[in-house]
Amino acid sequence: MQVPLLDLKAQYAGLKDEIGAALERVVESQYFILGPEVEALERELSDYLGVPHTVGCASGTDAILLPLMALEPEPGDEVIVPAFTFFATAGAVWNAGFTPVFCDIDPITFNVTRETLEAVWSERTRAVIPVHLFGQMAPMKEITELATDRDAFVLEDCAQAIGARQKGDESMAREGWVMAGAWGDAGAFSFFPTKNLGGFGDGGMVTALDGDLAESVGKLRVHGGRQMYHHEMVGTNSRLDALQAAVLRVKLRHLDEWARARRANACQYHGGLADVAEVTLPEVLEGNHHVYNQFTLRVERRDELRAFLQERGIGTGVYYPVPLHLQPCFEELRGRPGALPHAEAACLDVLSLPIFPEVGEERMERVIESIREFYRG
Ligand SMILES: *Cc1c(COP(=O)(O)O)cnc(C)c1O
Repeated sequence: MQVPLLDLKAQYAGLKDEIGAALERVVESQYFILGPEVEALERELSDYLGVPHTVGCASGTDAILLPLMALEPEPGDEVIVPAFTFFATAGAVWNAGFTPVFCDIDPITFNVTRETLEAVWSERTRAVIPVHLFGQMAPMKEITELATDRDAFVLEDCAQAIGARQKGDESMAREGWVMAGAWGDAGAFSFFPTKNLGGFGDGGMVTALDGDLAESVGKLRVHGGRQMYHHEMVGTNSRLDALQAAVLRVKLRHLDEWARARRANACQYHGGLADVAEVTLPEVLEGNHHVYNQFTLRVERRDELRAFLQERGIGTGVYYPVPLHLQPCFEELRGRPGALPHAEAACLDVLSLPIFPEVGEERMERVIESIREFYRG
């Protein structure tokens, strides 16, 4: 029995007709770049997320880049990002013209907190990027409070967390649950195929609370001008394809049901692995709705366990093996080993298990049994 880390074919099999019809609609229209299909997706995502503005773009990386470009950095302006995240979070900061400043993470959630941000804050800090890693949100109330106090911009990296939400509170006039992407000044979403809402290629979306910011991002994605051949700023080509939007609109209708399946899988892992002393299961903090883009354990003898599972046909992932402050490309920022101990420790013992909606109870059980067998020795 093979248990891949992710199998997109299973999802596609159930959607073939719906997606086929949507693709055909676009092909018949011969309208491929932005246009009505992209606008419809933008509206539907605004409604789903409860945000006033959405702007489709070419990738999740660009969804981080464009709002940062809109801030028009001066050389030396800083943006704080976690050291434990996908490279794009920091790469986009760099490419926008900011200096990335790396902060540590909370070892339980893998996310930044008010304290980890404060520890590296400086006079040059203009923005912070809380990443909602693996599908659970960073603590947005305390982060937005800190940023408001210090007049910094908050960009949520929601690439792994579409549909995740967190309980607001009345003092902030935000009762009930607030979606990832609706807390900060802006949010960045990715439609890379392995994300919870994945297209048939690259794609991304920026959310914005403020109309002026959305307007700037909308210009930056088409070379800095709403009107062709008139450029108010220097942007780039970061448009979303109509074919991608058509696929994503179909899939958006299934997103919550897939999240339920991921959460049920997480439950099964918790039940099956709770008593294995060498395994630390992911914890969901109170007031959080986790959407499990990844189900990430912290384990003893990680690389051995990984090889053992591989031999049994079970796919696993290591997200991420190297913290960003120790990446060779950021050498000039002079990050040193030991500076961000929780991020560095996580790189050595994290292991992500298959959690996609179609794994099924039997294959889930196989993963659980194999891990138990490994530690029984
Ligand atoms: C995937 C991802 C991105 C980048 O998205 P792309 O669409 O691949 O450019 C950014 N941040 C995080 C945390 C991601 O997981």
